[in-house]
Amino acid sequence: MEFVPVIGLEVHAQLKTRTKIFCSCSTRFGAPPNTHVCPVCLGMPGVLPVLNQAVVEYAMRMALATDCRIAPESRFARKNYFYPDLPKGYQISQYELPIAEHGHVNITQPDGSKKKIGITRIHMEEDAGKLIHDPDRSISMVDFNRTGVPLIEIVSEPDIESPEEAGAYLRQLRSIVRYLGISDGNMEEGSFRCDANVSVRPKESDKLGTRTELKNLNSFKFVEKALAYEISRQIGVISENREVIQETRLWDTAKHRTFSMRSKEEAHDYRYFPDPDLVPLQIDDAWVSRIKADLPELPDQRKERFMDQFELPAYDADVLTSSRELADYFETCVRQVANPKLVSNWVMGNLLGLLNAEGKTIEETPISAGQMAELLKLLNDDVISGKIAKTVFDEMVESGKSAKAIVEEKGLVQVTDASAIEAVVDAVISGRPDEVEAYKAGKKKLMGFFVGQVMKETQGKANPQVVNRILKEKLG
Ligand code: ADP
Ligand code: MG
Ligand code: ZN
Repeated sequence: MEFVPVIGLEVHAQLKTRTKIFCSCSTRFGAPPNTHVCPVCLGMPGVLPVLNQAVVEYAMRMALATDCRIAPESRFARKNYFYPDLPKGYQISQYELPIAEHGHVNITQPDGSKKKIGITRIHMEEDAGKLIHDPDRSISMVDFNRTGVPLIEIVSEPDIESPEEAGAYLRQLRSIVRYLGISDGNMEEGSFRCDANVSVRPKESDKLGTRTELKNLNSFKFVEKALAYEISRQIGVISENREVIQETRLWDTAKHRTFSMRSKEEAHDYRYFPDPDLVPLQIDDAWVSRIKADLPELPDQRKERFMDQFELPAYDADVLTSSRELADYFETCVRQVANPKLVSNWVMGNLLGLLNAEGKTIEETPISAGQMAELLKLLNDDVISGKIAKTVFDEMVESGKSAKAIVEEKGLVQVTDASAIEAVVDAVISGRPDEVEAYKAGKKKLMGFFVGQVMKETQGKANPQVVNRILKEKLG
């Protein structure tokens, strides 16, 4: 029997507002424990939460960017559970009436086609504190700085059908929150978290199977690996005529498998109810229009523009707009080097190749957009050849020097002067009578050999087009 995976993701994005969601404590990360706290976020009796308008506007931006319908009236609800990092004994979230529903994002599949992934809902909630376990002293400590930091939760429809699609969806969401400037979207640091729900169904049936929920997935790689593992585990279970149990499972990063954390019976009963301390949130059309007018260009729009304005292939545009910083980098270069495809090739090839090899992001690039533009201008103006440009690029990474400085220092300026190249060609030809004869007898492959010899004689500085032209003239 053939099975189809069914995946729905719940993503929590920490919002970058200056202050917390219901009090004016700072959200700044990395402060000494329990220094960004007040009676409100510590859940003292008798205090009242006051909603931070910036949180609502960040959630509205996300809702508009994902084509959601913003509710004219939404509500906050109490989600009751006891845990030491939750001082009130409940978390303020949204339940029956979230701020936004019925949206979607587009992902690009491996074959380049688009797929729509439905967004069920987006709601706002507060983060919990952080427990720090000290095994040496067998004690646990709690830091309440994170308590009350705003989050949005983005719940997808079960439209995702493979681990790769899940990865593409998450990357697209992260790219959107970053373009919007509402979240760092950093999975490793916990400002972007994902729970993955997964089931499998027989290909010929539309009925969804029993799902499990995977937690502890703090990188894109883990999400994809955990899903792949879980899909094959569930197929195994069903193939043996056993039943998949609805449960929460954790990803074991060391053993590369998921294991059961709690079953449905042990699941919390959150006893949600509307928070009596907070009035319903009303959002009118004028407010929505104001936020809409303020939205920046989004990844998909920028991709379309890159294809139109710079005549880039879809693949290039997709890669280059995958992050706002990378797209900015490309545009900065193109403003100085009027050859978009050349810039694209270099950014995608040499630059991203280097960054990937070193596990770095574009923000950590050793070569700034300005430095890259200087190098590519030399190449585009035929001052240096492509081969030399690669050497200069490596040298720039190594020494931090500018392209111009390296080219001058090492005398790497390309020789385009035909008479100078002709002299070298003549010398090469007269020194290799056997090869010349073979070439004239039909061994046309030898052209590469002659070009190589000329390049060797000129330390790679001869312009390859000119070399080819002169060789063809001379050898007939
Ligand atoms: P809960 O609140 O218990 O987590 P929800 O109904 O809100 O449950 O669903 C959470 C997520 O699970 C959603 O992203 C949804 O798309 C996904 N989901 C629901 N049913 C299935 C299923 N049978 N297989 C895979 N994912 C599912
Ligand atoms: Mg869930
Ligand atoms: Zn506070």
